[in-house]
Amino acid sequence: MELPLLLDLLRAGRARYPHARLAVQTNGNRLDGPTLAALLDAGVDYVSVASYDRFHPQPAGQDDALRARFDAHGVVERSVGDPGTSPGARQRIADYSIWGTNPELWVGEIWLRGRAMKHGLARLLPEHNCCNRWSGALGFLDDGSSMQEIAIQLTTAYPCCRGTVEPLGDVAAEPLAAILDRHSADPVWRALNAGDPEATGLADGFDREHARRRIRELGSVCL
Ligand code: SF4
Repeated sequence: MELPLLLDLLRAGRARYPHARLAVQTNGNRLDGPTLAALLDAGVDYVSVASYDRFHPQPAGQDDALRARFDAHGVVERSVGDPGTSPGARQRIADYSIWGTNPELWVGEIWLRGRAMKHGLARLLPEHNCCNRWSGALGFLDDGSSMQEIAIQLTTAYPCCRGTVEPLGDVAAEPLAAILDRHSADPVWRALNAGDPEATGLADGFDREHARRRIRELGSVCL
């Protein structure tokens, strides 16, 4: 995305949600000093520099240069998932993380999708409940919670990054709040919202033992 357009969107987001945390994710390749200053000026309070791992070669020394640049602008480093920062609330001091898809984060349990499925690389095991965490479906219905996260791919909304077979809805056709309202009483979506995929069939007579057996047979809660 071109910088002026990104800045316009950020300013609009900041004006509309003055108390929300405004985050930008980037690989850092074009994050020079003036760009960082412009992002901060537009109201950004968290910069997530992703793709620092063995799958995404980055220019040598770029991470150190970025750290110096953040430091010069008073932006403090924190580790990804640092519970000291409320994910949904605006911060007094802007911060950043530099991270990647490393075995201890995300790819330790490679998701069952796309090329990971095709090439047999997925390492998600039946005992991994990836629904019960951020980027899973946990809390997707919980308006006002800092855990609430909806994955929108183009205009199709899902409760999690993995994506359910049946989407929640289309934000081009219906406001997101109305989409969530429509699902808020459904026991299947409520079970996913609780991070409890085993419970998705309870209302239809499929007990937890049945769910556990199917999860074992299929290899993961998501399947
Ligand atoms: S179990 Fe379903 S809702 Fe939960 S993370 Fe997997 S695909 Fe998403």
